[in-house]
Amino acid sequence: MIDRETSILLRDAARKLTERVATPDYVRRLDRERTYPYELYEAWVEAGILALPFPEAFGGLGGSVLDLVLIAEEIARPSSDLAMAFGGSMFCGLNVLRKGSEAQKQYWLPKLISGEIRMSISISEPDAGSDVGAIRASAVRDGDAYVLNGQKVWATAAGSKNNVLNIYARTDPAAHYRQGLSLFLVDNDTPGVDLRKLDMLGRRSVGTYEIFLNDVRVPADRLIGGENKGWDCVLSGLEVERVVAAACDCGSARGVVELALGYAREREQFGRPIGTFQAMAHMLADAMTEVEAAWALTRSAAELLDEGKDSLREITMAKLFAAETYVKVANIGMQVCGAFGYSMEFDMQRHFRDARAATIAAGSSQMQRNLIAGLMGLRVK
Ligand SMILES: Cc1cc2nc3c(=O)[nH]c(=O)nc-3n(C[C@H](O)[C@H](O)[C@H](O)COP(=O)(O)OP(=O)(O)OC[C@H]3O[C@@H](n4cnc5c(N)ncnc54)[C@H](O)[C@@H]3O)c2cc1C
Repeated sequence: MIDRETSILLRDAARKLTERVATPDYVRRLDRERTYPYELYEAWVEAGILALPFPEAFGGLGGSVLDLVLIAEEIARPSSDLAMAFGGSMFCGLNVLRKGSEAQKQYWLPKLISGEIRMSISISEPDAGSDVGAIRASAVRDGDAYVLNGQKVWATAAGSKNNVLNIYARTDPAAHYRQGLSLFLVDNDTPGVDLRKLDMLGRRSVGTYEIFLNDVRVPADRLIGGENKGWDCVLSGLEVERVVAAACDCGSARGVVELALGYAREREQFGRPIGTFQAMAHMLADAMTEVEAAWALTRSAAELLDEGKDSLREITMAKLFAAETYVKVANIGMQVCGAFGYSMEFDMQRHFRDARAATIAAGSSQMQRNLIAGLMGLRVK
């Protein structure tokens, strides 16, 4: 456990180092060149940020989900795309912590914390998006290994150096739907793994990848959580993934409001700053209010998760509201910044593009609403 004071010190350190490394020029260049933020990731490793949520027994700092969420909100300020480099390793590492054996935790977690490896999650397939149970990639036991075949898509950060793919594949083709899935850890340079970086509207630096698996041989000790227990791993991982994704959306949305506010103060038309026109000021006031509301929901969901209480409803609401808020405020930011916002030489357009993924990735807004309605006792199809 770390105390509140240490948590705040870490959060402030995260803010400073993100501002130092992820300068506007750096973020613009990586987005333009579609290259991974290795320097920023290295800086996070050196500052101990990747160690934050893991127990001391594995080289971690023993932080809580709330500590993690506070950091995620800070580092996502300049770019939700770059924050996903952090998010991917955290979601997957925490799943290994929850579902892995003692030996697996001892093997993988120190490597993740030291930056020797990164991790990414690979659930989606061309025919399995919201419908995760439709996964077709297969894993067949062969002696002391499994052989994986199939195709994955949209895997964030999968092609970065030393990335360990967290791949969900079907181990029991006869099992009903969501049963019969298993989780495997696969080095992204294993023979038979082919990766292609996809050309997306936004989130172009860390990026998303298509993965082809052709007779990929994976040692049996790379199976996490037991054979045919993949659905439990999906559910356990998604809780943290969604609350951290919500925190990143809050941070990026706050970054958008700061950018728009700065512009509204400086840009003059009709002899006065545009921020003094009530129409502009009210849009910014609404944007800030929505960001704070999303952040309050996200913080309280993280606190509930830390208390071990059933927090599915709150996590889902936080994911839904924070994602929708990021999209909404990026739209407002674009309006406030006028043609400068629409220009590829200014940062608002990047937020506008990156934000659009928020209501799709890690479960679409419609799927979050289905879940919330279901928890309210409504049967939604
Ligand atoms: C930038 C980005 C990063 C991503 N990163 C990853 C990653 O790292 N790993 C990974 O595995 N996947 C990743 N994904 C994939 C993401 O999880 C899926 O895009 C998401 O689950 C939706 O699936 P889909 O795109 O196939 O849409 P579909 O499931 O085909 O849905 C299309 C539309 O139909 C709606 N819809 C579908 N079913 C229902 C329903 N039952 N009720 C109401 N509406 C419904 C959806 O909400 C959506 O609007 C990423 C996606 C993006 C855009």
